[in-house]
Amino acid sequence: MRCKHWCRVPLDLAQEARQMAPAGCVDRAVQCQLPAHESNEHHGLLAELATYGTALWLRWRGTGTDLIALPDCPVAGPGTDGEGCCLFAGHAELHTWQNAPEPASYAG
Ligand SMILES: [Zn+2]
Ligand SMILES: [Zn+2]
Repeated sequence: MRCKHWCRVPLDLAQEARQMAPAGCVDRAVQCQLPAHESNEHHGLLAELATYGTALWLRWRGTGTDLIALPDCPVAGPGTDGEGCCLFAGHAELHTWQNAPEPASYAG
């Protein structure tokens, strides 16, 4: 289950993000991308950056918000067509592809 926290992007950070995002636009509010978690630090995706494999995130905790550029999580799901993880490298909690219910395990 995905974290239900949303954050309105502060105006100054939105302006800064727009200058960094290749598309030149970012959402005015973002939802935390992490699976439901215990910590009070949330991460919302603002934009993919021009640098391959890097994205701009809004990180918030309490009333503090930060813009941070983070490399994509390199861990893909099992199998040759493994689904990629939509989070950033070094994130806490599960990978996004682990969020689905576990398939029944095979005996043996
Ligand atoms: Zn969260
Ligand atoms: Zn991951």
